[in-house]
Amino acid sequence: MISSDLANRLDAVIDSRRVELHELARSIHGSPELAFAEHRASAWIVELCSRHGRPTERPFGGLDTALAARAGKSGPHVAVLAEYDALPEIGHACGHNLIAAGAVGAFLALATVADELGGRVTLVGTPAEEGGGGKIKLLEAGAFRDVDAAMMFHPFDRDLVAHPTLATYWLEMTFKGRPAHAAVAPHDGASALTACMDTFRLVDGQRVHFRDGVRVHGFIKDGGEAVNIIPERAVCQFSVRSFDLGELERVRAIVERCARAAAMASDVEVSIESRQGYRNMRNNLPMAERFAAHLESLGRSAVLTDPDVGTGSTDMGDVSYAVPAIHPWLAICDRGEALCHQRRFAECAVSERGLDSMILAAKAMARTAAELLVDPELRRSAKSFFDASTAG
Ligand SMILES: [Zn+2]
Repeated sequence: MISSDLANRLDAVIDSRRVELHELARSIHGSPELAFAEHRASAWIVELCSRHGRPTERPFGGLDTALAARAGKSGPHVAVLAEYDALPEIGHACGHNLIAAGAVGAFLALATVADELGGRVTLVGTPAEEGGGGKIKLLEAGAFRDVDAAMMFHPFDRDLVAHPTLATYWLEMTFKGRPAHAAVAPHDGASALTACMDTFRLVDGQRVHFRDGVRVHGFIKDGGEAVNIIPERAVCQFSVRSFDLGELERVRAIVERCARAAAMASDVEVSIESRQGYRNMRNNLPMAERFAAHLESLGRSAVLTDPDVGTGSTDMGDVSYAVPAIHPWLAICDRGEALCHQRRFAECAVSERGLDSMILAAKAMARTAAELLVDPELRRSAKSFFDASTAG
């Protein structure tokens, strides 16, 4: 527990920065930048932190648009994570502008008390969550090496403090056939596009064998050059996702087999590039429960998870394999009104309600982080929960 005096002081700092945090969230929303190109967003965060006396490193961890701002000299260390990348075409339809502003708000509040509490807080700006996995690169660069706990929040249509996320693989299949005139001599050609489309059909046929919660979805990236040429080249991408790394491997092998079978049927070649995507989220329950308690005292009640709603994948999953971590989801709209990656969700990410939820998230994160700094018992239980889930 933290004293109500400390909680109130953290809240007061965030309230006093409300206008600037709103402005940060609006600016990032109005100027969407894709993975690893978040130059304006990261610069605005640096600018806001330095305006409040918090010098910020950028580039950080070898990434131009990653950043780190630190407070506190010694003691336990909590990282608050900011995302700020957008999606092609639909902009901030995942609400990462709110994630960024919420993290900055929590950090600015914690920075005012870190020394007094005898702990350390780092704001880590993590690029490219929507593809590219900035957090994985930062993990590899050692950015979380001496971190005791990490947290962020994510916008959603309901409040869930420990919703699972899916581990994922990315596959790209490139088919190479033989071009021929599609009317004069189709018999001389071998269609890469046919093999590509057959892959989708074969995968659909295998769905009956997938375990619950598995997701396999793809699109055709390249389907040929002209209507009168039997397509020589076709490329498709698949994402394979599962709650469980073992099932993920099994389904990945099935999808690859489908691509090879399709290539064989069309007498074309296929090359498959597969890349380990994100790990599933290991939600740290002792931390999630404290976050929920703080949220409750701020007037919002959350549950751990909700089987009625789906889930995605995040590179925060990889962070959760390295340190105790939480990734709570907070509503920025009515239940079912919109979900991530929909145009309506992008509107919600800049609405008054969205901005209010961001401020609330900042407060709940600041209180939870402060509690981790002052309460060795909470740190111990977070660590032993982490160790047990790692062993399991
Ligand atoms: Zn997202």
